[in-house]
Amino acid sequence: MNFIETRGNDGQRPPKFTFSQAILSPMSSFGGLYSPESLPDLGLPFLQAHIQSDYQTLATAILDAFEVDIDPDVIAQAVGRYNDFDEPTNPVPVVKLYDDLYVSELFHGPTRAFKDMALQPFGQVLSAVAEQRQEKFLILAATSGDTGPAALETFKARSHVQVACLYPDGGTSDVQRLQMVTEAADNLKVIGIKGDFDDAQTALKKLLTSDTFRQTLEDQDIYLSAANSVNFGRIIFQTIYHLYSYLALVRQNAITMGEKVYLNVPSGNFGNALGGYYAYKMGLPVEQIHIASNQNNVLTRFIETGCYDLRNRDVIPTTSPAMDILKSSNIERILFDLFGPERTRELMEQLDREDHYQLSDAELAQVQAIFAADYCSDSEGKAYIKQAFEQKGYLMCPHTATCLKPYQTQRQDPSLVTIAYSTAEWTKFSTIIAEALTGEHYQHDVDALKAVSELSGAAISSQISRLFELPVTQKTIIDKAEIEPTILAFLKGQ
Ligand SMILES: *Cc1c(COP(=O)(O)O)cnc(C)c1O
Repeated sequence: MNFIETRGNDGQRPPKFTFSQAILSPMSSFGGLYSPESLPDLGLPFLQAHIQSDYQTLATAILDAFEVDIDPDVIAQAVGRYNDFDEPTNPVPVVKLYDDLYVSELFHGPTRAFKDMALQPFGQVLSAVAEQRQEKFLILAATSGDTGPAALETFKARSHVQVACLYPDGGTSDVQRLQMVTEAADNLKVIGIKGDFDDAQTALKKLLTSDTFRQTLEDQDIYLSAANSVNFGRIIFQTIYHLYSYLALVRQNAITMGEKVYLNVPSGNFGNALGGYYAYKMGLPVEQIHIASNQNNVLTRFIETGCYDLRNRDVIPTTSPAMDILKSSNIERILFDLFGPERTRELMEQLDREDHYQLSDAELAQVQAIFAADYCSDSEGKAYIKQAFEQKGYLMCPHTATCLKPYQTQRQDPSLVTIAYSTAEWTKFSTIIAEALTGEHYQHDVDALKAVSELSGAAISSQISRLFELPVTQKTIIDKAEIEPTILAFLKGQ
């Protein structure tokens, strides 16, 4: 399968890339992204054939259908990373919350957030491809809390890859910080920045686009790449669990094969939702995809009005920080799929220039044929968390809680089942859960974890409790101006 560019080709790059090329250098002409030229057919015959398949078998079959240019033994190692999940044959449990609402739990990996679903196998693929090509890569990551731990975990002690991870000092939860600063492998550098997430992200983008930084690295035979969700190597692994969750519902007799479902996705950069969109395009019986946002509701407004509008918008910090995003990178791949490269380039350039674009009525109708959206305030989210616990004894993270809003407001056909995606374990956001359940404010994660665990009887997963015992090995906290020299010193082994 080939990959083509969402904003068309500039005549300098090859017009088509293979999968491995697209994952090693994820940016394409005119600042666009790589998208698949066509999608395989994974409709009813494929679903029927895989009704009893375990996760790794299904994942291998989907990657096979995409005809990726990766050796079968590398694919086997990549999907083998799901062995590190709680249940290797069922890494994504799909549990019933209400009669017509099932929760697909994407957080059973090593860092307890859904980033593991894609980053675990992606890390394996990227380092194997780098090794085969005998090339060294520096992976840069800026994180507000979930991507950093998942990227460090997947690349630790891998050959041919070094990782520099920037986080805002004081801007993450205790658990998220400990997940990063206790990582000890030689190929990882964790850097706390005196500043907020935007400062970390801006510094990262500057380095990724700096010719002098790139040249300095290439003089040392090191190439630069990024592990964020614009990389198709992550998206491909995010199609799999949508099919798997559907098949799990058929096996549980919650639906019959071929019956349509609603997918309901808590969205930030839109990688998770894009995986669901591709699953639908490949033949999964989906009635509609419901997008949940928090108060940073640019996506909701876009799907309601066709206007993507960043004017007079600043990020509002919420209790679902992984969704505190205004510019959802993967919307570009939806525009490309629906309207083609010329129109995509026009819209995205307008967004860069004027901070907004407006779809035509006909275009908006195409978007609304598959997507609907609503957003959830922090207080509504807390009420949903409390309700799920009091009614069902279920602990739900604040990102997952946002799904309950479109579940209540957007279903046109009440006879259909909804699959909502749960993106983090409660342990990663325990102070918010504790506050939702008890009304009390907790300063530190240790205390909140204990309070929730005692109240609910839920165990604190070992991946989280052990963090408080590990030595802190990554102690670098610096001013923004020192980021580049600090990374260069790390590459020199200093
Ligand atoms: C990353 C993340 C999201 C948002 O996912 P996107 O693919 O960026 O839309 C939601 N919840 C949690 C907990 C996350 O870590």
